[in-house]
Amino acid sequence: MPFLSKSTCKMAETDALSSFSREHSYVKGSYVLYLIHLLPERKDAMPPFKSRTQPLKLTLIEMLTKRMPLPPHNQRESAKWKKGYDGELRFDRMIEPYESDSHLLHDLLLQHNSTTFQIDTFMITSEKNYLFEIKNYEGDFKYEDDKFYRLPESELLNPLHQLQRAHALLAQLMPHQTIESYLLFINPNFTLYQAPLHPSLVLPTQLDAFLLNIQSRHGPLTANHHRLAEHLHSLHTPDTYTSDLPTYTFDSLQKGIHCLECSAYTLVEKGHYCHCATCGSDEKFSSAVLRMIHELTTLFPDKKLTTPLVYEWCGEFGSHKRIRQLLLKHFTRKGQSKWTYFE
Ligand SMILES: [Zn+2]
Repeated sequence: MPFLSKSTCKMAETDALSSFSREHSYVKGSYVLYLIHLLPERKDAMPPFKSRTQPLKLTLIEMLTKRMPLPPHNQRESAKWKKGYDGELRFDRMIEPYESDSHLLHDLLLQHNSTTFQIDTFMITSEKNYLFEIKNYEGDFKYEDDKFYRLPESELLNPLHQLQRAHALLAQLMPHQTIESYLLFINPNFTLYQAPLHPSLVLPTQLDAFLLNIQSRHGPLTANHHRLAEHLHSLHTPDTYTSDLPTYTFDSLQKGIHCLECSAYTLVEKGHYCHCATCGSDEKFSSAVLRMIHELTTLFPDKKLTTPLVYEWCGEFGSHKRIRQLLLKHFTRKGQSKWTYFE
């Protein structure tokens, strides 16, 4: 059985995966017809109730990568975060056709009893609510004695336990709601040897039929569903998670403007544009400097934005005067004379 928050739910009849499994046993021709029959109607695209945003630590590490050599363990971590995020985006595209008949809340960071937990995707339909934990594992894995291994031998945190934890916490936060929770492996190049017959687990080859089966089971949403989505959204706390990052200071990072296309620090001024001597691309001076200011304020949220600071951050590109004009145009001036800064 998938993890459920209400024991009264008659799972043998209502569980999406068990029904999906029954349908899955159709002979091939009928099965294809079944899938075509259930393909979601093309309706006007509706944005998800809450969109996914790139995790802050991934944004920061991508910025740092351009300005300092990353230690090998940070490079590995960064690649892992990127892969996870790419997987979530891939899932968002897969579930897009169902958005008009459900409220989708991606990437929720919630708290219960001082414990923070993350929900990759929460889906509210007219029938029930679904919690999806998304894994973008790639390659050969093995399940044995309630443990997951990346072959040949490295043991992972059991993602079913992660799912169980998130489910339990969410169920406490929303005690009157029925929630079904699933662990979705979405990478087509994922193999799980000795996969358990666990009804919360959905393998890549089962994913399309699983989603179609959910879609076939619900009708129009009501104001109650909308209120539930709003309530959950209101409980979301902004992502400020920045641990596991390398230490850095303003002085320790490389200065300059890197190319938007190829990331090289080989820009030269060309009128209102910056020209990259490496890849030949052009970018407006103002947009390149604003890009650098965005990096500066993201990496150093406590620093006051001043003309000398931005000028130094941009590797003394352009001129003091041009940077000041740009700050005056795009930001609000605060303070007087040498204490002037921008917000
Ligand atoms: Zn370039």
